[in-house]
Amino acid sequence: MIRFSHGIATSVGRVRRVNEDSFLVIPPLYAVADGMGGHGSGDVASRLAVEALARCAGLRPLFVEAVLAALEEANRVIIDRNEVNRMGTTVTGLAGLEAAIGGDHLMVFNVGDSRVYRLAADHVEQLTVDHSEVQELVLAGVLTPEQARVHPRRNIVTRALGSAPVLLPEHLLVPATGGDRFLICSDGLHGELPDEVILSLLAIANPQHAAEALVAAANDAGGHDNVTAVVVDIESAAPAPVFSPATDGADETLTPRDQQFGERRRPGERRRPGKPSAPSGPSALGDTAGDAAGPPADVGLAGLGLIGPDRT
Ligand code: MN
Repeated sequence: MIRFSHGIATSVGRVRRVNEDSFLVIPPLYAVADGMGGHGSGDVASRLAVEALARCAGLRPLFVEAVLAALEEANRVIIDRNEVNRMGTTVTGLAGLEAAIGGDHLMVFNVGDSRVYRLAADHVEQLTVDHSEVQELVLAGVLTPEQARVHPRRNIVTRALGSAPVLLPEHLLVPATGGDRFLICSDGLHGELPDEVILSLLAIANPQHAAEALVAAANDAGGHDNVTAVVVDIESAAPAPVFSPATDGADETLTPRDQQFGERRRPGERRRPGKPSAPSGPSALGDTAGDAAGPPADVGLAGLGLIGPDRT
């Protein structure tokens, strides 16, 4: 069984009038969605995405296909509503897959340019690949990641829920390892803060304090966009079983999933997980889009979110 703790912060930022980001915090499922669309419909799109995911969060065991099906469903629902208002949303997140072959795992999924990072000893490791124009130029060797971060077309996403009937989500599995910390964030965070700043603030022990510090720093850096941070700690998880190599000329077998996706256990801990201090309780839908030109103290649960119990 995977035990999680988490912290959440979201802000409308310093420029936008409405917070179109949504988040989902129902362990073992966590997500951030960054909505876009005219006439304030982006917040509707991002909410539809997290609502669809929320409907599969109670499945035990949760499995990859269920999460992908929820994303497909959200895509259909948003496209159906698109006749009224053009809208779309990114969605990025983590799902705990318990008792998977090879021990507990996390599914990292992504459509668009919100991101999942893992805190490593001396850097933040970006686990998702943006679906964006500038990322394609980075992959083509035309732009460096630093140039992409400030490029005028950095906000153009190439995949989103609501944009086409055929959805192309990406996902990967990583082992769930006690002590690991992940950050799920919208581009309002990673677009404002260089990796070194994300690294230093993500190292704050308490996950709620870390989330609040990250969002506050993005606002201090300009707050040009809505900004959302969900910090997820793996308190404990079932370790992968040890596989012994066959020495008797055994037939070829399928690669165990943990080897397929790479062992990520690192020697030595770089931080102690903090106690959860995020708001918790019954599943709740907070619908308070941020005020226009809110004060700097607007960091907090001002966005649209689905929050479940801390523990399952
Ligand atoms: Mn954004």
